[in-house]
Amino acid sequence: MKRIIAHIDMDAFYSSIEQRDNPSLKGKPVIVGKGKRGVVSAASYEARAFGVRSAMPIFQAKKLCPNGIFLPVRIKRYQKVSKQVMEILKGFTPLLEQISIDEAFLDITGMERLFGPPKELGVKIKKEIFEKLSLTASVGIAPNKFLSKIASDINKPDALTIIEEKDIKEFLEHLPVSKLPGVGEKTLLYLEKLGTLFVSDIAKVPERVLTKGLGKWGKRLIQLSLGIDDSPVVPNSLPKSVSAEDTFKEDTKDKKLINKMLLLQSEKIGERLRKQKIKGKTITLKIKFGDFSQISRNITLSYYTNATKVIYDNALNLFENVKIDIPVRLVGVGVSKFDIHEHKQYTLFEDDKFELADIAVDKIRERFGEKYLKRGTILLDE
Ligand SMILES: [Mg+2]
Repeated sequence: MKRIIAHIDMDAFYSSIEQRDNPSLKGKPVIVGKGKRGVVSAASYEARAFGVRSAMPIFQAKKLCPNGIFLPVRIKRYQKVSKQVMEILKGFTPLLEQISIDEAFLDITGMERLFGPPKELGVKIKKEIFEKLSLTASVGIAPNKFLSKIASDINKPDALTIIEEKDIKEFLEHLPVSKLPGVGEKTLLYLEKLGTLFVSDIAKVPERVLTKGLGKWGKRLIQLSLGIDDSPVVPNSLPKSVSAEDTFKEDTKDKKLINKMLLLQSEKIGERLRKQKIKGKTITLKIKFGDFSQISRNITLSYYTNATKVIYDNALNLFENVKIDIPVRLVGVGVSKFDIHEHKQYTLFEDDKFELADIAVDKIRERFGEKYLKRGTILLDE
């Protein structure tokens, strides 16, 4: 099946956030970078007009743009906005691969029925980002990742560029090699020495010449220069399940002891899920007996959770329905069936009180270590 890939790239991300957060900076040359001796992390389009570029030393930027507004890097702020951008994108498809703080690929193959043709989808993505975040993005849509990344760049900012299968050949004939993503100065020099000015020229160079100078990369360049790129969009992966299991020091039938273990495990799992910002709906209990026979029981809830209490209550319920004839050697709890759409950033406005309690517990543990905060039942007989 032919693929359709979208590449979304926020426009001048850091400086656009600064201009949005402080409207008096709008329309002014804003340069985000570290210290006097540092380099430019981002420059607004107004600053770029003076020749300021990212990775340029600050002193040089100051020479080019003496009236520029130089700001420190507020990386936490940008990361927060980045999460908001990715959340919006995940609303379109879970097949999302974030490749940097402000860029992601989406595999939008076969999504016409939901969102209309690719162009309409591109418009919708841009519109939602702008309406929700007051920031602009450039979107490139093409039959593969490589071309979609180039497409998002060529008409920046606030652009939507589509490369269709039938236009690829002509497009590459007019694309300067310097526009190839991943091509650094060294490769560029080598390509120029070979007389390849446009991307399609690369395929005319014998493979052995390219691999001699560029190694494996040379081989891949030939493919790319023909517009071929089969690399898939790899969703920033979720685990299949999160679980914990423990073997008792001695096989036991002591329900209190087993309950305690289940609670400890539920806490551990809940914490891990919350850290990864995922929720699951299937809770599994595993029991291994003294004779090494083992059983597993599971329940699938009607909702997704990562709340310790919900995990524990269900694990306990499963346990209480198991007849314990032989002493227990090991117990384990697991959560699976994750929802990628629930993979979201917490806000203080979450109305689930279990979650709020859990978040508070996680925070205290993070600061003071695990032993400072244990739940009631765990403390009971210690
Ligand atoms: Mg960007």
